[in-house]
Amino acid sequence: VLKDSAGHAAGDAALVHLSGVIEQVVPGSVVGRLGGDEFGIMVAGHDNKAALRRLGEALLRALERPVNIAGRAVRLSASIGVALAPQDAVDVADLISKADLALYKAKKNGRHAVMSFDADMLGDERHRRFVERELRAALLLEELELHYQPVFGADMAIRSHEALVRWRHQVRGMIAPAQFIPIAEESDLIGKLGEWVLRRACSDLQALGGMPVAVNVSPVQLRHADFARRFAAILIETGTDPRSIIVEVTETVPLNAGDVEMANLAALRKLGVRIAIDDFGAGHASLQYLRGFSFDIIKIDRSYVANMGSSRIDGMIVTAVCDIARALPVEVVAEGIETQEQFMQLRQAGCTSFQGYLLGRPQPLAKIGAAAAA
Ligand code: C2E
Ligand code: MG
Ligand code: MG
Repeated sequence: VLKDSAGHAAGDAALVHLSGVIEQVVPGSVVGRLGGDEFGIMVAGHDNKAALRRLGEALLRALERPVNIAGRAVRLSASIGVALAPQDAVDVADLISKADLALYKAKKNGRHAVMSFDADMLGDERHRRFVERELRAALLLEELELHYQPVFGADMAIRSHEALVRWRHQVRGMIAPAQFIPIAEESDLIGKLGEWVLRRACSDLQALGGMPVAVNVSPVQLRHADFARRFAAILIETGTDPRSIIVEVTETVPLNAGDVEMANLAALRKLGVRIAIDDFGAGHASLQYLRGFSFDIIKIDRSYVANMGSSRIDGMIVTAVCDIARALPVEVVAEGIETQEQFMQLRQAGCTSFQGYLLGRPQPLAKIGAAAAA
């Protein structure tokens, strides 16, 4: 897709190029535009999905060859979903929706992919819709709850708590966030869920002894232009001091200053909310992050903590990150600490805060309140 900034003429030239490539690779096909950047290609006379997939791959290869558009060398890129009639569907709408489902899976697999529809995808899709519907109800029925995991300072005093969402399903019991956050992220539910989490965390603050609380925020939430404004509104509504809130974001957030994500984070930080980079080192952007934008806390990914004992390199990386953090200066939290040995190594490496099953598991508020009162 050509960026809008390249202008209409360039967009038109790209369309002409696209239809030319399709005509060349799949002669005699019928091409139609289904949406802004979505096209349908109807190819007659095939009864073999493997052959169609190869055709799709040839098309992607042809599109990737640079072409001169408006004086610049441009490569088009695309993902392709394939469905076959009459095997997959006998009417046009059904066929398109199945190709669309395959396209969705192809995009998930990364760019430049071709996927053909198979019946398992339908199962996945039904499951997804089912979970989505149930989760929507759970938000209304108050079936969600927050558990809190303590974060300790080097002096072994609790510094803050991290809020972790749980779904107490009437039939299926406790459901972990990994099972439903990704599904919520594919709809408007993640926004609603995120606001529920923040509101609940704010109202639990006092019971947590007035200590700061960290909430996890999905990159999908940050993409909404009014995220920071709504976040701030909830702080006001609940009478919360922004300085007692930490926002944890995973390092998948892209790094272009001026982007919506960056603007949202900057706006929150201006209010006094602290920003933590969660799962640092697990993504691909880690080092860029260090110079990319302003934040307050680095949370070193659990995989480094787990491997420190066996991998000298991982130990060196943790030490180096701590050195950089000290110089910035920002706090370094080590998460997922399960053994005394890991704990000692992480202290030695220079981490400032510590979190993990060894020190304290996530627990419902009632248990934490009782511990604080004892
Ligand atoms: P995270 O933010 O990195 O949270 C840490 C996860 O590691 C939690 O899993 C926690 O229970 C687990 N954990 C803590 N200590 C240990 C340990 O010593 N060993 C091991 N093996 N695990 C440990 P949980 O609660 O299942 O959450 C998983 C992920 O789901 C979180 O990773 C976070 O990314 C996401 N998540 C949780 N709550 C929310 C939420 O309210 N909103 C959003 N958007 N995402 C959330
Ligand atoms: Mg987290
Ligand atoms: Mg984490």
